[in-house]
Amino acid sequence: MNKLSNISANMPDTPQMPVLFIGHGSPTNALEDNEFTRGWHDMAKELPVPQSILCISAHWQTRGTQVTAMKKPRTIHDFGGFAQELYEIYYPASGNPVLALDVKEIITKTGLSLDQDWGLDHGCWVPLIKMYPDARIPVIQLSIDYLSGAVYHYEMAKELKSLRRKGVLIIGSGNMVHNLRLISVNDFSNINQGYGYEWAYEMNDIFKSKILKHDHKALIDYESLSKSAMLAIPTPEHYFPLLYILALQEDNESAVFFNDKAVAGSLTMTSVLIS
Ligand code: ZN
Repeated sequence: MNKLSNISANMPDTPQMPVLFIGHGSPTNALEDNEFTRGWHDMAKELPVPQSILCISAHWQTRGTQVTAMKKPRTIHDFGGFAQELYEIYYPASGNPVLALDVKEIITKTGLSLDQDWGLDHGCWVPLIKMYPDARIPVIQLSIDYLSGAVYHYEMAKELKSLRRKGVLIIGSGNMVHNLRLISVNDFSNINQGYGYEWAYEMNDIFKSKILKHDHKALIDYESLSKSAMLAIPTPEHYFPLLYILALQEDNESAVFFNDKAVAGSLTMTSVLIS
């Protein structure tokens, strides 16, 4: 049985919420209506309506682990060189300071800091604006400690399990295959061109096969999966959110893939529902 904090213990139980890994791709998805944004939108309609969302985004890396604890998180436009209209999009969801405190209590593996400065970065708000456009569900973010490795993130994520029975939808947002230095397009507006390099398809197949077999050990030791792993994961921040989601999987739960496609050669949008 997972640890309950004093706060969770006083909250009513809900049916177990699913968990999601989302391949978020380019920030320009916020402006578009494409197969991926429709995939996010359609997935949200199938899920029980969450009471709150906890997002682990590739784009918030910190020394140590932090959780956003402000009442009104700002929309962070953490990218450069895009059309002005992208900087004019806001996602006005509230935060959930009580849930942030709860997360701080639940996680015993490290001391969490409550953050008042971050907000919602594009790894979080771009998918959410398509999933829950009315922004009525409170959202908090958990940062990725850039000093820690895969085993640490996987083990720490397990401590979040009890939140699934408190109406919290936990979303990991990254891209399983993510190598921006090798993308095949010059302009991000063409990034959703649907093809991948051979090694990107190879890694996509390996990831999916290991996920379906519940072989989390192999996925934690991702550098040993194939020679192509280093091309798919040159730096781990877009991959680690997947490990958070896998850590929350129960033995009797299965994985379903959606948006299962490579784009711009060296990115995959492949997303996973675990329920
Ligand atoms: Zn990203």
